[in-house]
Order: sequence, then C-alpha cells, then structure tokens
Amino acid sequence: MRLSRYFLPVLKETPAEAQIVSHRYMLRAGMIKQASAGIYSWLPLGFKVLRKIEDIIHEEQARAGHIPMLMPTIQSADLWRESGRYDAYGAEMLRITDRHERDMLFTPTAEELITDIFRSNVSSYKDLPLTLYQIQWKFRDEIRPRFGVMRGREFYMKDGYNFDLTKEDALHAYNRHLVSYLRTYERMGLQAIPMRADSGPIGGDDTHEFLVLAETGESEVFYDSEITDLKFGSREIDFDDKAQCQAVLEEFTSRYARTDETHDEAVFHQVPEERRRTARGIEVGQIFYFGTKYSEAMGASVQTPDGQKVPVHMGSHGIGVSRLLGAIIEASHDDKGIIWPEGVTPFHCGIVNLKQGDAEADAACESLYASLTALGLEPLYDDRSERAGGKFATMDLIGLPWRITVGPRGLKNGVVELTSRRTGESEELSPEAALLKIAQIYGKAA
Ligand code: ATP
Ligand code: MG
Repeated sequence: MRLSRYFLPVLKETPAEAQIVSHRYMLRAGMIKQASAGIYSWLPLGFKVLRKIEDIIHEEQARAGHIPMLMPTIQSADLWRESGRYDAYGAEMLRITDRHERDMLFTPTAEELITDIFRSNVSSYKDLPLTLYQIQWKFRDEIRPRFGVMRGREFYMKDGYNFDLTKEDALHAYNRHLVSYLRTYERMGLQAIPMRADSGPIGGDDTHEFLVLAETGESEVFYDSEITDLKFGSREIDFDDKAQCQAVLEEFTSRYARTDETHDEAVFHQVPEERRRTARGIEVGQIFYFGTKYSEAMGASVQTPDGQKVPVHMGSHGIGVSRLLGAIIEASHDDKGIIWPEGVTPFHCGIVNLKQGDAEADAACESLYASLTALGLEPLYDDRSERAGGKFATMDLIGLPWRITVGPRGLKNGVVELTSRRTGESEELSPEAALLKIAQIYGKAA
C-alpha cells in the first residue's frame, strides 16, 4: 500500500476522552472512530488488524478440529424464554420489537440459537463429538462502556460450542479449547494466563478466564509468579489425544492463578511469599463446561449406542476479538506509539523515502516495494512529500515492527537502513540484504 493512496486519518492531538494508552493510540493512529457510546467504526488500519486476529483464530480453530459457521445478530426472544435467560439476562440485553410487535434481541452470546440448531439436526451419538463456532458481533448494553474497544457495547467475539455424549468427552473439549487458546494468544504475541473464574450468567461449574497482565486491566488477579515462565511455544499437539490435552491443562493450571471472584486468601498463602503476585489483568477469553444446563432446558438429546436418549453435554468458549486489539497495545507500546507483534501487524514493514522526487531514492523504494509484494508481504510505503521527521513519527505511531529508510545519501554507499520498532536499533544494509532479512523474519523464501 502506498500511504499517499491509503486512508490513514492520524490525529496530532491526544484525544481528551481516552483514559488508557490503547484507546489513545487507536484513535490517534486512525484505527477506530466512535459512532456512539461503546460503538465504533473500524477504519482501514484497525480493520486490518482485526482481520489478522480473526485469521489466527480461524487457523487455530481449524487445527483443533472446530467447525466455523455464522449465526444472525438479531434473534427471536422465544428461544431465550425456553432457556429462562430472557428474564435472567437483565438490562445488558438489547431488546428490540419488530413491526409485528414480536420480541427480538441483539445477541449477547448464542447458546440458545446453537442449541436449537443442534436439536433440529442431530439425534445420534454417531454425530458426536461436535464443536461449532463463529466470529460474530455481539451487543451488551454495558452500564459503563469505556476504554475504547476494551469495553464496548457492540464488540466482536469468537464464540464456540461443543456437544458431547459424555461428561468425559465434554471435559476433553474443554481441555482442547484451553490448549488451542494458549497457542492462539501466543501467536498474537501475548501471554494470556488461564485463571480459575466465576461463570456469571452463562452458568456452569468449570470455567477459566484468560488474562493478559496489564496495569490498566479491569480485573484484579492473584497468581504464583512461576506461571509467567510457562510458554506453550511451538510444541506439536494432537488435539484428539485426551491425555496430551489434559497434561497441558494441568501444566498451565496447577499453579495458583485466580481472579478476585474466586480468590481464596488462605489457599494463596500456601504459595511461597516471594512468588505471590497481585496484579491487574485484561480478560481476553473464557471457557466453560456447563454440562446439560441448556440441553435439558431446550430438549437437545441424542441416542446412545444402547438406544437410550440422553441430553448432550455442552460447553461454550469465547475470545474477545475486538478487545484483543486493546490488550495487545496495552502489552506492547512505548511513548511514541504502538509496537505490533509480527503476528498481527497491519503491514509487515514500512518503507520511508527520505527524499520523495529524487530519482534514485524513488527507484530504490519502488524496487523494494515490488520485491516485498512479490514475496507475499505487505509493505506500507510512505511516498508522501513530507519531511522525514513527520514520516518517522507516523511510522512509530502506527507501530509497524520494521522500517526500511531509503535516502540519496545512503544509496550513494549502496545502503538503506533497517530499523526495529521494538528495540529502536538500526543497521545499514544493501537493499537486497534488507529484503532478505524481512523475508526471513516472516518466514518467506527470498
Ligand atoms: P467481562 O467480565 O469483561 O464483562 P464476560 O466474562 O462477561 O466479560 P464472556 O461472556 O466471557 O464475557 O465473553 C467472552 C469474551 O468477550 C470475554 O473474555 C472478553 O474478552 C470479551 N468481552 C466481553 N464483554 C466485552 C465487551 N463489553 N467489550 C469487549 N469485549 C468483551
Ligand atoms: Mg468472561
């Protein structure tokens, strides 16, 4: 993309309404614009990162054997009356009346609709196990929407639902989601710690929330510091292997890690004092096993091998897709702007032309741009006739992890400059060597 042709409405001033750094940078970098309280338009740069996050989620869901689909945002109240949640949900549910006076609602989550789809189509154990998921907009009429996309009213969420014959199978689905989520967040450059949590209006006994540690997090968390040394890394997992998934779950959940809802001071004090940590965290996901709560209420049952009819065991699993942009920025920024992890960066690298209009500089930039594009990478080429300082400030603000700076003086010596956004370190390289290095970083063969 050439910046002269892109839509990147960068703000010079710090917007007064933004209280936390991710909200400030998302507004300043022209990623989002508030449409009304807690409801945002996603401008091109923000939309691009949202899509990258979504892509990672889809890839990791596929790896775990989960099946994507899409359900509507507007749902009939009738199904929610069947489960009893139409009344239980309260003021957070946005209720809508259509022209025929029918009660509708904007989905805050989708257990009812998916259970209805299941019961209409599945009646035998032979069709199990089954895990379906979607990435879809949700609406919760939060009493205090704030911090930009962190606590919106309209927000984008991955929600998945497993259907299993037995409790044991459903707990495997739970473990599989936990493992899959660990991988998912790590690919986004995040450490998200699974913590024992409270189930809230979803209901159920087993639940973990995934928290990213950050001073601006809304949850108070308590944990054993050893937990932050755990890395999922690049280990290969067979997601159908119950024992393997169980072992990973145990590894990542056996140390003390809880939110304030489930915190138990006495148990916490069994952790050696020097390892006890109290901090704040951002909830980026949650997994639930709730057994037959919905399947019994809504009559979703299957035939067992010996001909009995039993309600299916279910769980649901959510990732806060839009909230993740905020969480990633909270975890990765400096006083100049965002620092995107390579896995989610909107563009792979920036190209800054120090002297637009200089024949040699223009040609070198065009050549780098063409070569990077040919490798399947997306560079953002700042081809505007602006001073260098302004170009650097924009690149730093929008946080591309790598920048190639091209100018007539360097070109005389056959070099360009490659700068890491994270460390600020620069090195002078030939354009070919710079290209090779970027290709290697992103796993492309140059
Ligand atoms: P919270 O406790 O933050 O209100 P929740 O526990 O009610 O969230 P879940 O039902 O677990 O939310 O939804 C799954 C994920 O969706 C959450 O882990 C969170 O990342 C995200 N999420 C929930 N509410 C919002 C919101 N208002 N704005 C943005 N993301 C949200
Ligand atoms: Mg939650």
